[in-house]
Amino acid sequence: MALDFDGTLVGCRDRQLAALERALDGRPAPDLDAFWRAKTTGASTVAALTGLGVSEPDARAIATRWVEVVEDRDLLALDPPVPELDAALTAIAAAGLDAAIVTARRDAAAVRAQIDALGLRPAAGVHVVSPASAAAEKAVVLAELGAVGFVGDTESDAAAAAAAGIPFAAVAGGQRDEQWLARHVAGAVHPSVLHAVRALLETKER
Ligand SMILES: [Mg+2]
Repeated sequence: MALDFDGTLVGCRDRQLAALERALDGRPAPDLDAFWRAKTTGASTVAALTGLGVSEPDARAIATRWVEVVEDRDLLALDPPVPELDAALTAIAAAGLDAAIVTARRDAAAVRAQIDALGLRPAAGVHVVSPASAAAEKAVVLAELGAVGFVGDTESDAAAAAAAGIPFAAVAGGQRDEQWLARHVAGAVHPSVLHAVRALLETKER
């Protein structure tokens, strides 16, 4: 069984907001809670910023800088493991399945070090694809792995699972909130990664 990383196995809010503050480069900070609400309801970084009164040229400059800094190594430590991470991986192993992490990052070495530092050694490996074509590249990896299902926190993850022809379970509270996922992703939206893993295991047993 394959799992996305950002927003699925670790929280993604704190690092993204720290990256925003870094990317502002001296410009006044927008309301960070409102910015995050916009991002979790589907807005791009540019749209979230312009919605908060930032001029379009500034929003574009900040968004470009944000992509450059969001994977800065010192910010990666801000990603907290989700509370049910260990239980979810234990449930996968107890079902006799190998877990794989399939994540979209620019810096593959950094995310591998981050996963290692969390003590995670997924039996089916860590697979890093390009954020520029995340859904398509994740679909290829999922198909190659022969994964029985994919757990993720975005519509992009759902698209990857659909393209690979495997079941998808959405987990809320990462990059997208529950209501947004319910409107944009087929199937149930789960409150935790453990809940999502259990749902996929039940699907597999049927
Ligand atoms: Mg994610």
